[in-house]
Amino acid sequence: MKFSSSEELKPEEVEYFKNKLEEMQRQIYDESGETVEQMKKRNKEFPDPGDRAHLESESITTLRIRDRERKLLKKIQEALQRLEEGEYNVCEECEELIRKERLDARPVTTLCFNCKEKEEQMEKTQHS
Ligand SMILES: [Zn+2]
Repeated sequence: MKFSSSEELKPEEVEYFKNKLEEMQRQIYDESGETVEQMKKRNKEFPDPGDRAHLESESITTLRIRDRERKLLKKIQEALQRLEEGEYNVCEECEELIRKERLDARPVTTLCFNCKEKEEQMEKTQHS
């Protein structure tokens, strides 16, 4: 994808990121061996949260992957939402526009490069 030099997202670029995010979403479902339909069906078959918890605790590894996938899925859905609202490339922190190349590399990011750097610095300080 050759991005336009303007900071704003062009309609075809919105479309490009939408496809990219939807593709990521599909991949997660593929890897988990489940289609969206199956997931819906399973939730219907086990309406009791207790039953579902039992089912999911069968394998800790599966559970861990699922947790990570779930988090990523949530991020993808939020990104799609922001895309629809025209806020996809707006940094949550400083409201500067996030570079398209950065979004291309990390489609679910909500921070511009500078804010992400700052966040990582803060995390390092907190953990040491
Ligand atoms: Zn920022």
